[in-house]
Amino acid sequence: MVLQLKMNLEYFKILRELLSLSQKIDDLNFNKKDELERIQRLKTLINDHENQSKEIKIDLNTLNQEYLNKESILAKLQQQIEQHKKNEKNLVTQQELDSYQLQLVKIDEQKNELEESLFLILENIESKEKAMFECNDFLLGAKESLLEISNDVKEKIKLIEGEIIDYEKRIILLQSEIPTHFKKAFEKTKKMKLKKSSMSFIQNGQCSYCAYKVNSIDETSIETKLEIHHCQSCQRLILPYAINTN
Ligand SMILES: [Zn+2]
Repeated sequence: MVLQLKMNLEYFKILRELLSLSQKIDDLNFNKKDELERIQRLKTLINDHENQSKEIKIDLNTLNQEYLNKESILAKLQQQIEQHKKNEKNLVTQQELDSYQLQLVKIDEQKNELEESLFLILENIESKEKAMFECNDFLLGAKESLLEISNDVKEKIKLIEGEIIDYEKRIILLQSEIPTHFKKAFEKTKKMKLKKSSMSFIQNGQCSYCAYKVNSIDETSIETKLEIHHCQSCQRLILPYAINTN
């Protein structure tokens, strides 16, 4: 019986190491995910800016086309005005002169409107070109950063994966050193993916993690008989206190 208790204490120590290794693997996998997300975030930003740059380019083409069209209309109006002025000397009656003046005023109004609109288009083109410059400037820097971050992340992930493989090997080795019911307790606890720690102790008759009261029968079973128990409230594996002192 004493030998069995001693053995159980050793098994509990192994179980504790197994659970802490498994916790470390979870943490490392979380870090790995975090690293990959760093790249993904930057890729999304680059993608957004590339789309923005494409949209600005389309807008600029439309604006330039609009500018050229209006400019050619303006040139035609200018020709009309000159033609009108040439015709002026052939006008004889007052009626003809009045109609001539009226037409000239109308053409002039159209011309002013066009000039105003051309000015606005130019302003718009200027602001789009500025946005395009900023967008491309960002893309240049971001693509450089992406390259640097990708290399950095690749290195980190290689290290993380190496560590995980080492821990997994150690887990396989340790599992072969404990009896089936301890192995089952490990698998069960590991699967629950409990936050912070998957283990607790009895402290003043309570679970050290969630303060749930452990009844005296269970307490004796854990501390004296060194049997496997999980907290009824938080499900953590309750380790016998003796494993700290032995
Ligand atoms: Zn608990």
